[in-house]
Formats: sequence, structure tokens, C-alpha cells
Amino acid sequence: MSHETVYAELTDWIKRVHALGSVGELLAWDEQVNLPPGAAEQRASQLAALAGAQHAAASDPRIGAWLTALEGEAASLTADQKAVVKNARRDFDRATKLPEEFVREKAAQGSRGYHAWARAKAGDDFASYAPVLARNLELAKREAGYLDWAGREYDYMVDKHDPGMTAAVIGGLFDELKRDLVPLVKAIAASKLKPRSDALRGFPIDGQRAFLREVTQRLGFDYDRGRIDVSLHPFCTGTGSDVRMTTRFKEDEPLDSLFSAIHETGHGLYEQGLRADQLGTALGIHAGMAVHESQSRLWENQVARSRGFWRCFEPRLRELFPRQTQGVSSDELYLAINAVTPTLIRVDADEVTYNLHIILRFELEKKLFTGALAIGDLPAAWRESAEGLLGLTPPNDREGVLQDVHWSDGAFGYFPSYCLGNMLAAQLWYRALSLRPDLEKDFAGGDFTWLLGWLRENIHAQGRRFDALQLARRVTGEELSPRHLVRYLRERYGRLYGAEGEKGWVERAEG
Ligand SMILES: [Zn+2]
Repeated sequence: MSHETVYAELTDWIKRVHALGSVGELLAWDEQVNLPPGAAEQRASQLAALAGAQHAAASDPRIGAWLTALEGEAASLTADQKAVVKNARRDFDRATKLPEEFVREKAAQGSRGYHAWARAKAGDDFASYAPVLARNLELAKREAGYLDWAGREYDYMVDKHDPGMTAAVIGGLFDELKRDLVPLVKAIAASKLKPRSDALRGFPIDGQRAFLREVTQRLGFDYDRGRIDVSLHPFCTGTGSDVRMTTRFKEDEPLDSLFSAIHETGHGLYEQGLRADQLGTALGIHAGMAVHESQSRLWENQVARSRGFWRCFEPRLRELFPRQTQGVSSDELYLAINAVTPTLIRVDADEVTYNLHIILRFELEKKLFTGALAIGDLPAAWRESAEGLLGLTPPNDREGVLQDVHWSDGAFGYFPSYCLGNMLAAQLWYRALSLRPDLEKDFAGGDFTWLLGWLRENIHAQGRRFDALQLARRVTGEELSPRHLVRYLRERYGRLYGAEGEKGWVERAEG
């Protein structure tokens, strides 16, 4: 058989495995959006049956034979084919190297872990949760061992979410970011300028829904190939021609639903921009969580918190909500959109302090994996870090170490992606601005096509040919660096809050 025939067989099979997985995603979406309350058990068994079928397909021995044949003929493969084979090998190893018994044990522990966490959080009882964390840590290390990452267990966890990334690289980037960010947050906290927390109240849900639909459509989300619904926690799933986003609505927090929707739109635009004929192969799958998050953050923050964006949409907001916006000046609105208030809770954090929440988790995770930190000492270590980074001390573990769900099912190594995504978003933003300095004027005129086209070509259409570090290098001409994020935060927030030794509202004066 020629290697072209083998390659065609492999990719057909990969696409089929991906199609099975996407059915599971659809069922999971439906569970969050539509499921009747009495159907939870039935849905769980549907999902389990499907996961079994998908795992069987993903670990089919023929894949191994195809891969071995293609790897033996690497010299005759194109660069794209090599990328596809490399990613397929990664997936195949992960599907086949974990003993079945281990996979079952981990799934059961994940479900137990979630309930133990929920109970511990409700009762502010870390001690009852500590054995679960110990077990999850042990399972994570065992998993790394099965996949030949023994001795580099935390790197394995990081690589799982962000192929090619390592704890050492992240540590270097975060140290640099921390050095500049901690003083900026302190300066903003000391600013006399305070956002009015009561500025926006009583926005009817129907109007909010209409507004965010207009906004996300204008940004480029294709509603012929996707939709938006309501769920408890906003998310985005699906890919290619069927992307499902969600948001949530609160009458007194219209910016929450809008910015959640814009964030998910960034994810959705990425998925809609993948090559539809290659879904599931390295040519038609996202490059990892950091790159995914760079897309959601770029649209949410650099674009939708800009002056240009609001020049376009503020008149429409006032038109739809004349009574609610009557007593709110343009400057007050813009400050509410760019409110910075340090908080103990990651999910409530603004985009400046958010990064410090991530650094805190990364540093603790890393120490848990090396053994430098014992699980029993975690609550105290958390308090100490929160004090040092955020200037706030959690009064209890509910607002400290127990606040996040991630570790309860062993999702270590996931947090850094959020902050790496913020870094990459800022770096991409300045590159885009250097190519098109009038980008914000485009936005003011309601035109987002240049930016989307540029991202489509340079990020979305690239699939997983390159990892986050390679993409940063290729698209921006330099290594991934926190200095662009620091520059962006200083330019937007330092100026706005007068925290850079200038008067507040400098942005307004500059028009
Ligand atoms: Zn996201």
C-alpha cells in the first residue's frame, strides 16, 4: 500500500472518531441547556455508552499499524501530513497506554471528587477534601507514568492542555508578569477613581438578548453555523459548522451576559474558522487551550473593552435601554466596562487581577507535584499567596483553596492556559495594530472584518500545525512574552485609573 493510501485511511478514521466525540459534545451541550430534570441518569448512561464507543474507535489497533507505517516513511510525507501523524500518535498513545482499570478508577474518582468538593466547600471543611486531593494527585502522577512522563509529571499535566508547553517556560513567563503586575494592581486599588457598581440596573432580558445577538453577529459569528442559548455557566462547544455557545442573563448585570457572550464568541469564531474538511486531524483542530483562550480574551478584552468598540455600540445600547442608561455618562459606562476591583474569587476577577489568581494556582500546583508542598499545608499556603499577590486574605477556605472545581476531578495543569492566553492575546493585538494602526477606527465604524480575517488566516486556519509558542513566533515575529500584556494593561487601566503617575481619564482627554 502506498503511503498516500495509508494516510487516507488514517485520516478517514480520525475524522470518524472525531464525529463520535462531537456527538458526545452535543449531548453534553443539551444536558446543560435543554435536559428535563428527570433525565439526568438516562443522559449519563447515553454519554457513558458513547464514550465507550469512542474509546474503542480511538484505540483501534489499525491506527497503530497505520501510524507505524507512516512514521517509517516520514521522509516522503509533507509537512502537513507530518503534523497530522504526530498529533494522531499523541491521541493514540493516550487512548491505548492507560490500563482500562485505571481509566475506570479515574472516572469513578472524578465523580466522587466532585461531590466531596461540593460538600467541603459548602461546609468550609478542607480536611474532608484533603484525602480526595491526595488521591487525585497520585492518580495524575500514575497517568503521567503510563505515558512515559515519569519524573516530569507536572509537565505532562501542562502538555495535556497545551501541547509543547512546560512548567519551566510558564514559570519564567509568570515571574516576569508578576513583577510588573503586582505593583500595577496596588496602584489601581489606591486610585481615587471608583467604578459605580450600581450604574447599570434593570435591563430587561429580551433587550439584552437582542443586543448581544447584534454585537456577536457584527463581530463575525456566523449564526447559520452556530447558535447561542442560556446555561448556568457560559461555555462554547462544537466546531466547524455547528458551534454552540451559551450565556446567562441577570437584569442587574447586563455587562456580565454581554461579556460572557463575547468571550464565548471568541472561542466560537476560532472553531468556525477551522478547516471543515479536516475536523479532528491536526489540520482541523485547535492548537491547545492557551491559543483557544487567546481568541476568547482578545475579542472580550482588547476589542470589546476598547473605546472604538463602544463608539460603535454605545448609541445602540442607549437606544435599546433609554431609561436604564439615562443617568449614566459615557465615562461612567466606560469605567463600569473596565472596572478593576481586587477580589478573592477568581471567577469574579477583572482582567487585570485575573492573572494573579492564575499565578497563585500555578505556583501551588507545581509545588504539590514536586512534593515541596504537602496537601495539608495547602490552605495556609493559599492564604499567604493571596496576601502577597492580591493584598487580600481569605477569611475562610471557601473563598480560598476550596473555591475552584478543577482539582476535584484531577484537572491539574489547566489554570496556566488562561493566563498564557491573555499574554498571547495582547501579543497578537499589538502585532495586528502594527499591521493596521487604525484598527479601533474600524471598530468605531462597526467593522471587525480585517481583524477576523487576519486571525482566520494566521491562527484559525493553521489548526494544530504549530503549538502556542511556535504560533507566537510565527505570527508576531518574537517569542511569547508577558511584556505585551503588561503594556496593554498599563495603557488601558493604568491610564484610566491614573495609576501610572498620570491623571485619571487620560483616555478620555485623548479622545
Ligand atoms: Zn474561555
